[in-house]
Amino acid sequence: MRRHATFRVQPYYNLTGVSPFHKEIVMQPLIIIATPNISWLHPDVDYPRTPEAIAEEARLCSEKGATILHTHAEGMWAETIRAVRHRSDIIIQCGMSSLPVAERMEAYENKAEMISIILNHHDEAFALTECSVLHSRQELAEYAHLSQEYDVIPEYEVWHAGSIWNLNYLIEKKLIKPPYVTTLFFGWPGGTWSPPTVEEYMYRRRLMPAGCVCNVSIMGEGQRDIITAAILQGDHVRVGTEDYPFNHAGKIVTTHELVMETAGIARAIGRPLATIEQARKMIALQGG
Ligand SMILES: [Zn+2]
Repeated sequence: MRRHATFRVQPYYNLTGVSPFHKEIVMQPLIIIATPNISWLHPDVDYPRTPEAIAEEARLCSEKGATILHTHAEGMWAETIRAVRHRSDIIIQCGMSSLPVAERMEAYENKAEMISIILNHHDEAFALTECSVLHSRQELAEYAHLSQEYDVIPEYEVWHAGSIWNLNYLIEKKLIKPPYVTTLFFGWPGGTWSPPTVEEYMYRRRLMPAGCVCNVSIMGEGQRDIITAAILQGDHVRVGTEDYPFNHAGKIVTTHELVMETAGIARAIGRPLATIEQARKMIALQGG
């Protein structure tokens, strides 16, 4: 196993509010989550659609520095989980949190390591798809029980401050245990849109409860600003065709190329990348 030296950094600002300028804080290595899925804003962008093609792209993403694969599996959950496992050790996170619980049982039953769960109403206005789905606190409780029963790590999607209220509700009811793995969303169009700005990231990040592993997902041109801020702050990042398929030069590229570019930003500012073993430990996955 590769080992990284402990990474210390003097932050420009400190979201925890503790000794903002004078005390060093210890940061975890960076987790990059790869999303080689449909580009909701640019549906003409190519992406892997078969279990084998998804598995190969996952392997390339892992090779370039990603430790978690966020996949939609194109609906072929069992086959895709199997194919990905065959080619790499990347941690598998099953997305499509808009689907009803019954349609997500395949992800649980096939022992995906993680499952995405939205903490609020789905209200999205994509290029070809309108999505409007309510998710009650009762459903969130059901997911919490299922995730415990099947030993799958829930990844909670935080779209606005109200999502954090629901996260705190689950914590207060003792339905979930830390670390709380979360992704903060920015710039996704629709009724749960939030500004893709560093200001919004810092504001929302301060509201997050203790014990969170925070990741960011951004659609639009503000992506690089928030990604860089998150890397500097010790948070984690998610990139791929699903989020924003353009590289720094505005060219459409594959997800593994976006992972490679993000890894380059991290290296340039001195934040090491997590190994899969380190990422497993950070999200409290068994075997980590
Ligand atoms: Zn997704």
